[in-house]
Amino acid sequence: MIKEARKKLNNVFGYETFRPLQEDVITQVLNKEDALVIMPTGGGKSLCYQIPALLFDGLTIVVSPLISLMKDQVEQLRQFNIPAIYLNSSLTPEQYQDNVARLKRGEVKMLYLAPETLLMPQTRELLSNQQVDLFTIDEAHCISEWGHDFRPEYRQLNEVRSDFPDATCLALTATATPRVRQDIKDILELDDSETFLASFDRKNLFLKVADKDNPVEQTLDFLYTRKKQSGIIYCFSRKQVEELYVELKKEGHSVKPYHAGLSKKVRARNQELFIRDDISIIVATIAFGMGIDKPNVRFVMHYDMPKNIESYYQQIGRAGRDGLRSDCLLLYSRSDKQKIQYFINQKEGQEKKVAEKHLKDLMKFLETDECRRKPLMKYFGETYPNDECGMCDNCLSVDAEVEDLTVQSQKFLSCIARTDQKFGAYHIADVLRGSKAKKVIENGHDQLSTYDIGNEWAKEQWILLGRMLVRQNYLSRDEKHGSLQFTEQAKAVLNGQENVFGVLDRTDTVIGDEAIDRTSSDVENNYDRDLFEQLRERRKEMADQQGIPPYVIFPDTTLMEMAYYFPRDKEDLLAIYGVGSVKQKKYGKDFLKMIRTYCDENEVESRRKSLKKKKKKSSGETFEQMGEAFNEGQSIDHLAEEHGVKQVTVIKHLKTYLEEGNDLRTEGIAAASSLSVRKRDEVMEVMDDVGARMLRIVYNKLDKSVGYSELRVMQLYYMAQNKK
Ligand code: ADP
Ligand code: ZN
Repeated sequence: MIKEARKKLNNVFGYETFRPLQEDVITQVLNKEDALVIMPTGGGKSLCYQIPALLFDGLTIVVSPLISLMKDQVEQLRQFNIPAIYLNSSLTPEQYQDNVARLKRGEVKMLYLAPETLLMPQTRELLSNQQVDLFTIDEAHCISEWGHDFRPEYRQLNEVRSDFPDATCLALTATATPRVRQDIKDILELDDSETFLASFDRKNLFLKVADKDNPVEQTLDFLYTRKKQSGIIYCFSRKQVEELYVELKKEGHSVKPYHAGLSKKVRARNQELFIRDDISIIVATIAFGMGIDKPNVRFVMHYDMPKNIESYYQQIGRAGRDGLRSDCLLLYSRSDKQKIQYFINQKEGQEKKVAEKHLKDLMKFLETDECRRKPLMKYFGETYPNDECGMCDNCLSVDAEVEDLTVQSQKFLSCIARTDQKFGAYHIADVLRGSKAKKVIENGHDQLSTYDIGNEWAKEQWILLGRMLVRQNYLSRDEKHGSLQFTEQAKAVLNGQENVFGVLDRTDTVIGDEAIDRTSSDVENNYDRDLFEQLRERRKEMADQQGIPPYVIFPDTTLMEMAYYFPRDKEDLLAIYGVGSVKQKKYGKDFLKMIRTYCDENEVESRRKSLKKKKKKSSGETFEQMGEAFNEGQSIDHLAEEHGVKQVTVIKHLKTYLEEGNDLRTEGIAAASSLSVRKRDEVMEVMDDVGARMLRIVYNKLDKSVGYSELRVMQLYYMAQNKK
């Protein structure tokens, strides 16, 4: 069955391989077993039910709380010629009846429903005459009172479920909190074996935090290198949205505001303009974003500090759904923090405690000097496995800007000691620079030994140092008075036992391009910009003619690949990302013509050869793909990461590849073993002796001195070698 599923992936959707967990979930569903899928936004949840829907004889029901998303998804499915409809309150009575009639005639594969529509007796009656194979609950967190948008109707879904005794139940959510996940499991009565939890690390998002200094300028700097890109800028208040909107408009940016103070009509229009690429930027409060499925949001900026990690993660999650690199910049200031603190202080009891904990976790993320993915993942109950991600400001600044700031730190700290830990950074800076300010003189601080010993730096630099010392936990700042006080750690610096290293200036909003090479493909870096623009314009025309968003025709990635490989014919085109047979028929001719003309005029040579290779690679079984890639020089670890599976899974696939009669390069297998050569020989001898099939026997024979995961590597090695 999974073979069939892969065919659909290739031929209908035009994608090459499954994303992590998609294959597992689809297998489970096709086996008619229930499942709960927890995947971050952009992880590819939709395919988990769309592909089974195509393979089942009967109907697939999708319950979704967002009317706008339903429309969007159905529109996208129609582009693939998949018969899908929806029933909700947004339809006119005629449309509604029309859809019901199609359903009765058995013309429909997928039915999207709002929960309240499903609960209506006439809907239940209607569906009782249908063969329902799959019952999907999208946005399943709505079932939980602990979630951010609890829907009472969702609670009743469990009851409706019994209307379809033969249907498999598939629940999906991007919920990040363990509490809500547990709640969903309890309510839907699912156990651990039925839960699929994907990693919440969004690898393609570049994360940066900058100290808020001159925010308008910082925003303009940031936008300067992002012309024509789609992005969202989040502000704290409506007033802030309006102000920033005016500033950006004045500078000629293509931008609209969005907040709850605008009429419903204006909000809907501005959102539509954004989705259809008529404008590039939305400046918004947190009211914006629910139900936005736009895959090519290239940046999300937080002009003001978000309330907590949960909302931050949700908001940046709207960037880069298409998997291309996208940038997230957060401007951070203490006064923003105080604003949040102020709101927390209005709360009481448990609610206050929770909010305080949230703020503390957020601060950890903002003030860390480590890889930002560490505190972020930790918040979601995951341990980030690497030291560096290469896709956050801290990882990039490791080599670049870190300075030895020991001497200045000592001066700064001793000045704090001399003034009895009663003053803030501004005053300390004044004393160090020998200022004649009234406060300095009145306190007699011009008499101190630390007076006027810090003229090598401007006042601003000393203040930045103060912030950095707080960040690095040498100092703590009294929230009421702003005075700086020592922590345990400060002593070691004062005594000269510890050196201080750090990044002073965090106001810079430039996001390093160095990261590009580490995360993006050659396609992403080297596609033809001019052709891409032409294709984009054509796509926009086509979309406007049909009254749909451009990405529904083709995502950006498709155009990018076209502008990289320069396909020449139908065959070539089918190897391009996102081009399945239906879309090829619909749009292929048009795009091919443009590409051909462009190539002829500019004497560009097509890269169709590599396209052929790519196609061949994607059409085979996973074990074939892995085997071939492995023999081409990719390591086992690399393959594991690329396919989002464990090392042992790769080894299993490679074993199948061997058993199907292929060869494997043995040195690559040996490289995956961490045993010493001597130990390896010992294992090989035992395998010679007792055979390699039964690892338990080998394990015991070696007195349990080598673990099973190592033995699996050696087994593969042994088999590969003895084949030759
Ligand atoms: P989610 O619902 O989890 O936020 P979607 O289902 O909307 O994510 O998928 C995000 C994007 O990734 C979509 O544009 C989708 O077409 C694309 N996508 C999903 N699965 C794959 C895949 N296996 N290969 C390539 N692209 C995929
Ligand atoms: Zn990092």
